Amino acid sequence: MFTVNAYAATSATEPLTPTTIERREVGPHDILIEIRYAGICHSDIHHVRGDWGDAHYPVVPGHEIAGVVTEVGPEVTRFAPGDKAGIGCLVGSCGACAPCRAGREQYCAVGGTLTYGSLEADGRLTHGGYSTHIVVTEDFALKMPESVDLAAATPLLCAGITTYSPLRRFGAGPGTKVAVVGLGGLGHMAVQLAHALGAEVTVLSQSLKKRDDGLRLGADHYYATSDPETFEQLAGTFDLIINTVSARLDLDAYLSLLTVEGALVNVGAPAEPMSLNVFSLLTSGRTFAGSMIGGLPETQEMLDFCDVQRIGSEIELIPAQKINDAYERILASDVRYRFVIDVSTMA
Ligand code: NAP
Ligand code: ZN
Repeated sequence: MFTVNAYAATSATEPLTPTTIERREVGPHDILIEIRYAGICHSDIHHVRGDWGDAHYPVVPGHEIAGVVTEVGPEVTRFAPGDKAGIGCLVGSCGACAPCRAGREQYCAVGGTLTYGSLEADGRLTHGGYSTHIVVTEDFALKMPESVDLAAATPLLCAGITTYSPLRRFGAGPGTKVAVVGLGGLGHMAVQLAHALGAEVTVLSQSLKKRDDGLRLGADHYYATSDPETFEQLAGTFDLIINTVSARLDLDAYLSLLTVEGALVNVGAPAEPMSLNVFSLLTSGRTFAGSMIGGLPETQEMLDFCDVQRIGSEIELIPAQKINDAYERILASDVRYRFVIDVSTMA
């Protein structure tokens, strides 16, 4: 074991504070990553504040992690010291169940090991990227794009894959109309990815405040959902809607915007359950679906796609000392469009 600097939440109500945590020694299949950047996902806030149930404290959040490999175990084949490497939301899975064998480790039947907040086989809690170093088996490490700045590529590891996966699964591409609900961390990636895949993209945001940014990121249209006319005007329009909102929505209103047999995919993960009227689905053969991050092969595919397309996140790089301020701004929908921690400020 060795000790590294980190930022942790010690309860659902306390701000995150500097601390130290233990990392395991590098095993035969492990790599040690000196973390340079860690993205702040709204899921970090949900988890820390107990929105999804009681967390095990201390929580060291962070599942968008990018850095440089400084040591590799003797059996490691894909990484060498000096390589850039990334880690997303998963650091382990059973490897034997049907989803794992299909490369969809996020749906591991046994329950994958999350990058933070999971109990490992030895009973220790996993700790995420708000820290200076992490040790991970190479199977759960990703090759980062070369054409995109490493800090801007970091949010691809959650926000990127979480939106890429349903866009691919539901066939976003030329000739399809895709709407993205919420222009935050996930939303601004969904807009760029759907546009790069060739879809006609519409942003549905609470207001028109971020309209110029949405259009610059690749949206063709931008509407305010606070305006009831939006729902009348766009009824029956979209083949696919990706809902990235972190709070409850009136699902029936959004389902009414789908074409016949269109799909609304929920990636937002609000604390409270949401309900819908089944007739919103029945009357036009519509689908309501969910999607969680992506498996390792698809995450690498997305990173390679972003490398070719030169797609990264629009980030605000912050020192670790500003993490709590960033949380408040995210909760106020005041994020443009992902906070990324400069981990060198934790040294
Ligand atoms: P974020 O940066 O805070 O973006 C969410 C956006 O939703 C906001 O910027 C805002 O956009 C909109 N919004 C917020 N509150 C709203 C409300 N009350 N009514 C309507 N719109 C509202 O969050 P994020 O990091 O993108 O994460 C979004 C959600 O996805 C979170 O719940 C997170 O836990 C979840 N998530 C899920 C997965 C998965 O695997 N499924 C992965 C990562 C994150 P506008 O200002 O444009 O309206
Ligand atoms: Zn996330």
